[in-house]
Amino acid sequence: MILATHALTGAVIGKNITNVPLIILTSLSIHFLMDSFRHGEYFDSRVAKIKNTWWKVALDLLIGLSLIILLVYFKTPSPIETERMFIGAFFSLLPDSLTLMYWAFRENILLAKIKSFHSWAHHYSRFPKYSPERQWNLRNASNDIFISAFAILILFFL
Ligand SMILES: [Zn+2]
Repeated sequence: MILATHALTGAVIGKNITNVPLIILTSLSIHFLMDSFRHGEYFDSRVAKIKNTWWKVALDLLIGLSLIILLVYFKTPSPIETERMFIGAFFSLLPDSLTLMYWAFRENILLAKIKSFHSWAHHYSRFPKYSPERQWNLRNASNDIFISAFAILILFFL
């Protein structure tokens, strides 16, 4: 799923769970669970290069983090609650950060192991590369849209 969806989900986790180790564990588990849902990717990890993908990643991250910053600005949660939301967002983004690092350091065995688990969690990546289930389109973005909208609803209105 896209980074904005993961960041927002992490903020929801941090907002609702007070125990930090539990926030970390939940954020990581939910990341891999969400990746198993049908979703398109805006890059193909086998052919994409950092050179022409970095701006999409940056934009995606910027949107997710901006929404959390807007939330902090308008809803003024307590400093401890704010910290927990950012911890949740950080650990919800961590698997993707590590996979991005793997692009740069492919010889690192630990990063390679995490990457292969991450790929395994992507149930739909078992579908052929050009199958309709994996295209970057509105149909495949519906899970991202639904989860993000639900997270925004919880963060801003509950
Ligand atoms: Zn992921």
